[in-house]
Amino acid sequence: MCGIVGFTGSADALPVLVNGLKRLEYRGYDSAGIAAFDNGGIRVTKTRGRISELERILRGQPDFSSACGIGHTRWATHGEPTDENSHPHLSHDGRIAVVHNGIIENYADIKARLIKRGYSFRSETDTEVIAHLLDFYYKGDILVALAKVMATVRGSYALGVLCADRPGEIIAARLDSPLIVGLGDGENFIASDIPAFLEHTRDYYTVDDGEIVCLTKDSVTVYNSDLEEISKERMTVSWSIEAAEKGGYEHFMLKEIHEQPKAVRDTVSPRLENGRIFLDTNINDDFLQDISRIHIIACGSAYHTGMVGKYVIENLARIPVECDLASEFRYRDPIISGRDLCIVISQSGETADTLAAMREAKRRDIKTLAIINVVGSTIAREADYVLYTWAGPEIAVATTKAYSTQLVMLYMLAVRLAAVRGLLDAHTEKKLTAECLHLPEKIEAVIAQINTLSYLASRFHNHKDIFFLGRGVDYAAALEGSLKLKEISYIRSEAYAAGELKHGTIALIRNDTLVIAIATQQSLAEKMVSNIREVKARGAHVLTIASEDTRQMLSEVSDDIFVVPSCFEKFSPSLTVVAMQLFAYYIALCRGCSIDKPRNLAKSVTVE
Ligand code: GLU
Repeated sequence: MCGIVGFTGSADALPVLVNGLKRLEYRGYDSAGIAAFDNGGIRVTKTRGRISELERILRGQPDFSSACGIGHTRWATHGEPTDENSHPHLSHDGRIAVVHNGIIENYADIKARLIKRGYSFRSETDTEVIAHLLDFYYKGDILVALAKVMATVRGSYALGVLCADRPGEIIAARLDSPLIVGLGDGENFIASDIPAFLEHTRDYYTVDDGEIVCLTKDSVTVYNSDLEEISKERMTVSWSIEAAEKGGYEHFMLKEIHEQPKAVRDTVSPRLENGRIFLDTNINDDFLQDISRIHIIACGSAYHTGMVGKYVIENLARIPVECDLASEFRYRDPIISGRDLCIVISQSGETADTLAAMREAKRRDIKTLAIINVVGSTIAREADYVLYTWAGPEIAVATTKAYSTQLVMLYMLAVRLAAVRGLLDAHTEKKLTAECLHLPEKIEAVIAQINTLSYLASRFHNHKDIFFLGRGVDYAAALEGSLKLKEISYIRSEAYAAGELKHGTIALIRNDTLVIAIATQQSLAEKMVSNIREVKARGAHVLTIASEDTRQMLSEVSDDIFVVPSCFEKFSPSLTVVAMQLFAYYIALCRGCSIDKPRNLAKSVTVE
């Protein structure tokens, strides 16, 4: 995965490209580079490292300016992050330049054939084969050459191409990797995501799989794979550039944590009508009544929302739910039948494993419902039904607000399923609907205790191992709390179902090991008290996250206690996870970590 940007217009392209790349830096950031038309040819500047490094090099090249170019931030898949492996890649004569997001699966084969024909390679990347293959097929029409390349390569790609014979023009294409076209006035853009060009224009086209786009400063022409011209629907971005920027917070993550009440409110309120939940997708009630089993498929934090979803849907709608990691589901020949529903969850709507798992379900004629944050993304376009979370752009690599909106979308789905299947009387339905509606103010109440969480973090940031325990939805929340901590603070951490600890893991508890116990459910509070006693007997220091309802029972056994407001028990992850996000944030801050861009991680995982 990576960020691609391209600009053609009258202004100097270099600052436009560099600024665009900065806005995309969350997509990958181990190298950066640009290529632009210059003196009848193409000039490339690229380097390993962050974009600031590229900027430093460009400052030393004051003669380099151009009105048209492409840029790239890389997240390496083939070959280490080095200057040579950075994009753009050039054909041997330097007349064709390529940036690429994705993986060319049959590159080794193509490379061997090209080497036989006399081509030599400068990098270890899969991408370089595209530059040489374009050269090989090029007989004066770069579009024809690109169509041939697309017929030859296997894998995923968003491509930006410059050809020295067509100055001022950018050629782009995609298959299974995100790519959009920004439509300006006398200038046009390509990008992996909207923030890259949002300061210049709000109008854009999405590019679909197999399409080729040709951009000049005054025109954008889109072709299908047979190079027939096609027309596209013009879309307009509704959110502001400020929404994609830090807005005064020290980190995007902190800003996005604070945006959660709004994001949850935006996701819930348009779907309420007279105390009932209404799903804004074309799914009909007969189908909802008839579902025999639900498969929730996702990766990472989205998978953890799925775990909560399993508890909530089974509890309210009495439908069996299996929650699967997308990378497992797609290869395990899952047993699914015609009346099953697959729910796929992804912030970006481009997560490669989730997309592939969804396609697997579709191949077996199973209906798919996607919970997605990015409008028009691949999963959103291919799913039978889509429910958008309205979290807005999320820049920090560690998800917070997208997670929270996915959770609440699952609660609403559970309530709707239960209602349609006759399991809720009007009063209970109204009550649960109101619970969803009141979550934003309760999340605000958790955020208001930010100083307590920062104080707790300052006491525990030197710990080497931290365990999280919980039962039921608290266990699902613990999985996410532990992942947040690992992602941004690099502290080793594990989450355990509290009843499972004694079957092995308790051997790791030593004097002063920090155990965070999540215990918000009255029905399970006594059991949690016993589990806390078990770890305390082995020397653990226990910080409990309780609710108003359980605080009394838990405070006796806990060394520290943090209390979240009470709510319908099964919805409590919406509150406890926010506390754990802030705790992880301040621990990472104390440890001086790179919070928005943790090492080895990138935001949207568009490779397998
Ligand atoms: N597979 C290509 C590489 O390793 C592109 C990676 C990316 O999407 O950034 O260079």
